[in-house]
Amino acid sequence: MALIVQKFGGTSVGSVERIEQVAAKIKKFRDNGDDIVVVVSAMSGETNRLIELARQINERPVARELDVMVSTGEQVTIALLAMALIKIGVPAISYTGSQVGILTDSSHTKARIMQIDAQNVRKDLKAGRVVVVAGFQGIDEAGNITTLGRGGSDTTGVALAAALKADECQIYTDVDGVYTTDPRVVPKAQRLEKVTFEEMLEMASLGSKVLQIRAVEFAGKYGVPLRVLHSFKEGPGTLITLDEEDSMEKPIISGIAFNRDEAKLTIRGVPDTPGVAFRILGPISSANVEVDMIVQNVAHDNTTDFTFTVHRNDYQNALHVLEHIAQEMGAREVVGDVDIAKVSIVGVGMRSHAGVASRMFEALAKENINIQMISTSEIKVSVVIEEKYLELAVRALHTAFDLDAPAGTAE
Ligand code: ASP
Ligand code: MG
Repeated sequence: MALIVQKFGGTSVGSVERIEQVAAKIKKFRDNGDDIVVVVSAMSGETNRLIELARQINERPVARELDVMVSTGEQVTIALLAMALIKIGVPAISYTGSQVGILTDSSHTKARIMQIDAQNVRKDLKAGRVVVVAGFQGIDEAGNITTLGRGGSDTTGVALAAALKADECQIYTDVDGVYTTDPRVVPKAQRLEKVTFEEMLEMASLGSKVLQIRAVEFAGKYGVPLRVLHSFKEGPGTLITLDEEDSMEKPIISGIAFNRDEAKLTIRGVPDTPGVAFRILGPISSANVEVDMIVQNVAHDNTTDFTFTVHRNDYQNALHVLEHIAQEMGAREVVGDVDIAKVSIVGVGMRSHAGVASRMFEALAKENINIQMISTSEIKVSVVIEEKYLELAVRALHTAFDLDAPAGTAE
């Protein structure tokens, strides 16, 4: 008998039929003797609909009132799911975030959970009930309703699992696990049995959107075993854990992540003197633009080129700031490029294996793909390339690092 927290996302509870399917699934676990706490999202599209409604009053609605409103989406699904469970003979009770004591700070629309008083939940579990909790929401010290940011129900699930010391937090969604890369780009991508929190964080921040990043951080911090599963297909899903097993069969690289969300800026011919990086990036950061990769080249004739990437949405803003700086510094020119993409190989196996980066570069060289920038961390190597080669690069790397599914096994 285990204590399991199960989170069902918006598409899994997107209609009454699906809610009844979810109820039937929960009943199976219950019949097995497990204690179940369920966290649900709003029905798919509902949160967007509510936000849109608010915008009809005001393009930038008051955050406190927006939270009062968008939190209602989850309140509908908890009640429907509890009703569906009761209908098939499973004792169940629903709670909003505030009723279940999810205390957050007061940053409306992006609040952080500070504490959970899980006493009510424990009492109900003891009494044999399935407890259904509204995801995405909490209450601050002054009693205001807060929400946790888009995708925040994942975090509610993980936080509840941590507070209850659950055996596992299961995230049910519309994919059957975490893949070695996006199967739409590489049909031979494979579901991972296991991935570490660190790897998952790198992959999530690089654009694979299976889980809210904050939920992964939270789970890693509290050591909550997290499993991603398909809501309606059977299967073991992907387990996200702390332990790094170093088995012979385990590939060195766990996944290939990529994104097209960045743009590149270069300032040419800046004086090679102390303080230059600060003079360039200080104003960029003051303009609230986050910088990702940075490259500064060796100087010739006492001048150097300085290149960095920013989110594509920030490109115009950054370009404007940079042109200003260039003039001040007497730099030669500013050039920008939005047609770039970032591709990364991610894997904890890199820690104990040499030559991983060069294997990556070799695979790209064979395809004649030019590398514009490189950055590395302990478990990741990223390159910036021309956007039109993105899919080719991902496929080549997937093959080079032995991640392709054996013939005939691709799903
Ligand atoms: N309903 C919220 C959203 O759409 C929270 C969630 O689904 O996790 O972002
Ligand atoms: Mg979600």
